[in-house]
Amino acid sequence: MAHSNSTSSSNKLQGKVAIITGGASGMGEATARQFAAHGARAIVIADVQDEMGQKVAASIGSNICTYIHCDVRDEEQVKNMVDSTVKAHGSLDIMFSNAGMGRATLTCDQTALDMDMSAYDKIMAVNARGMAACVKHAAKAMVEGHVKGSIICTASVTASVGTENFTDYVMSKHAVLGLVRCASLKLGAYGIRVNCVSPGPVGTPLLKELLGYENEEEYKMVESYYYLKAGALRPENVADAVVFLASEEAEFITGHNLAVDGGYKA
Ligand code: NAD
Repeated sequence: MAHSNSTSSSNKLQGKVAIITGGASGMGEATARQFAAHGARAIVIADVQDEMGQKVAASIGSNICTYIHCDVRDEEQVKNMVDSTVKAHGSLDIMFSNAGMGRATLTCDQTALDMDMSAYDKIMAVNARGMAACVKHAAKAMVEGHVKGSIICTASVTASVGTENFTDYVMSKHAVLGLVRCASLKLGAYGIRVNCVSPGPVGTPLLKELLGYENEEEYKMVESYYYLKAGALRPENVADAVVFLASEEAEFITGHNLAVDGGYKA
């Protein structure tokens, strides 16, 4: 049975150093808490929401969790995030590249018939280009440090299926799958694993922005997406999958897309 919102604990990630992009909120925040509960030595939360990120880091504990401002659209900032982590903690073992954007315009549904191309550029800059920059710089640090690390990206069920609207978002998530497949092949030679998690709809600020629901009642309809009748998918369910992929339990798993979607994609 799924556990509650509280985190389980173990020493699965004992001594590991991790970066989590988009760690100020939603699934990134839940994963930062799980990483701490599973023994990570240092967790660096990177985001553009500085106040929220600092609060999350402080609530986990400044002895293991710190915050850094990093806009993943800016490759220099991504490089600095990775370099400063290695400088402060000696290595990088886990990169959870998770930062993402749902909608860049509220005036257009981004269908094939009606797409705002500047909104498309904005989505791709974060969800595809930003993700690639994070994988690249994490991989370089792991190779240089001779670390057999684990890189995990957040894709989505929409990396594998289409929707009528949000074409740009869906395209960006298909790109994540391509990135993970290519990177896993290249980095296998160094013992570095690259995987992604593909959540179904989770009630985070991003989903609210994407679907535009106004209240809990409207959000209830999200539960109808899940074939597994076990309530709504929670950020902690996704965090559990990320912990697994980051840990040695997944030591022979690479290039994999792990759906956490209550059967949506099945
Ligand atoms: P969220 O809004 O709670 O968190 C996303 C975080 O990414 C925010 O803290 C935000 O500030 C940060 N971010 C956005 N742009 C950034 C940038 N340029 N640089 C650095 N950080 C940036 O939403 P979430 O649902 O937890 O989203 C996490 C990931 O999960 C995203 O990649 C999203 O596409 C993906 N996802 C979400 C759902 C869902 O239903 N919520 C489903 C599948 C996949």
